[in-house]
Amino acid sequence: MTGRAFVTGGAGFIGSALALDLIEAGWSVTVFDALTYASASGTQRALSKAGATLVTGDVRDRDALRAAMQAAEPEAVFHLAAETHVDRSIDAADDFVTTNVNGTMEVAEAVRVIRDQRKGRAADQLRLIHVSTDEVFGALGPNDPPFQETTPYDPSSPYSASKAASDHIVRAWARTYGLDVRVSNCSNNYGPRQFPEKLIPLMIVSAIQERRLPVYGDGSNRRDWLHVNDHAAALRRIAEASESGRTYCVGGGAERSNLEVVRALCAVLDARRPAGAPHDRLVDFVADRPGHDWRYAVDASRAYHELSWEPSRDFQRGLEETVDWYLENEDWWRPLSARYSGQRLGQA
Ligand code: NAD
Repeated sequence: MTGRAFVTGGAGFIGSALALDLIEAGWSVTVFDALTYASASGTQRALSKAGATLVTGDVRDRDALRAAMQAAEPEAVFHLAAETHVDRSIDAADDFVTTNVNGTMEVAEAVRVIRDQRKGRAADQLRLIHVSTDEVFGALGPNDPPFQETTPYDPSSPYSASKAASDHIVRAWARTYGLDVRVSNCSNNYGPRQFPEKLIPLMIVSAIQERRLPVYGDGSNRRDWLHVNDHAAALRRIAEASESGRTYCVGGGAERSNLEVVRALCAVLDARRPAGAPHDRLVDFVADRPGHDWRYAVDASRAYHELSWEPSRDFQRGLEETVDWYLENEDWWRPLSARYSGQRLGQA
């Protein structure tokens, strides 16, 4: 399947990877994005160069959202626009609730209005792919089985609570209004063009600049890591191949402690920049995040079986490619230090 896609949050980390993936696969793509601090101008240039139509707008702005969606005439709406940094949600939850909860309601409503204006097959074809996170399930203990699609919701942070609410909203719109909604709950992503406030890019750009590497607590918190291009491919497969109403847990099968991740990327940098080795001498253990979930892990077997999808690269290879990307693209991340230069956020 190809067609016209409308991607909210498409100028962010995952949204831009998805937009580029869809264009490569033959879709035409309209990106709708408020261009908050999290969207880099280098990402916007990459999207324009690839042929995406970029519309600047806020998902909370009902008229602007509906006008842009109507003009794009999409078969698939991918909803990624969100406030996404847990630490920022601890400092100020307002935008997390208004964008992630109210904004998702606006997206669901816009899809419903457009569906109702269409007739027959065109109405039936319109689908909403809602992009969510495994963080809605809360924290796992060391011996707990990984999250599955049936795991009860138990969010810990203002961010994950707002994402949980957004999942409930789109499912309610499916049941009440018959909207074709599909949901992904994905594990931690990494890869190129991620704003350097999140663990992996923060550690890479800090180590390149010989700055300290702040590791929360004792670094034992565990996450499952998936390369962003593999997440993009899974989202495209959900649009193409899943049934209406389906939810998928998407993950990389690469569970690591934060300290293991930091040491692994330091080892890659040691090989690339031996003059600075060993980069893990820069590790600095700092006070833990309040309410810090200890472990996330994902059972992605439904996605494997139903979507003919699996991650295309292992974590070590993906990490090496990611370190290389940040080494080769300083012009992408250096200007972002005016917006965020590594100061501690989210201490409550
Ligand atoms: P990001 O912060 O890099 O990008 C978010 C984008 O949304 C930005 O371009 C921003 O400008 C835009 N945006 C924010 N508020 C907006 C608004 N009110 N209106 C329109 N656009 C707005 O985030 P990301 O990491 O790319 O995450 C994208 C989606 O994927 C989010 O919904 C997130 O919850 C989900 N997700 C992320 C991860 C991860 O590891 N990063 C994992 C699973 C799910």
